[in-house]
Amino acid sequence: MTAPDDCLFCKIVAGDIPADVVHESDTVLAFRDLNPQAPTHVLVVPRSHHANAAELAAAEPATVAGLVAAAARVADDEGLDGQYRLVFNTGADAGQSVFHTHLHLLGGRRFTWPPG
Ligand code: AMP
Repeated sequence: MTAPDDCLFCKIVAGDIPADVVHESDTVLAFRDLNPQAPTHVLVVPRSHHANAAELAAAEPATVAGLVAAAARVADDEGLDGQYRLVFNTGADAGQSVFHTHLHLLGGRRFTWPPG
């Protein structure tokens, strides 16, 4: 998919906007969320541009697994002891505000269910 010129996470992947990067590979980048909702709040994004998780899964299924594996590794590095939440917000009504696929890794506190 062609990225829009104003895609924030494409600019972070390109290094044009700074981010607190905690993990990277050939296919994914993980960086701390600017507005953390938990003691650990990291976004794991593919380097390639896709609007959401479903579009990434259709185009590059292995990269979806790569996002989850990277999140698990960061969770280990952060000492979360296997206790964390992974979230793909999809669509504005579900809370998505940046339309470049990103997996939220949240941890370091207890979470409630259902989410708000
Ligand atoms: P979502 O609402 O699921 O699309 O998540 C987008 C996330 O990106 C939000 O949690 C924001 O706090 C986060 N965010 C926005 N701009 C930046 C940035 N420049 N660096 C890091 N995180 C950001």
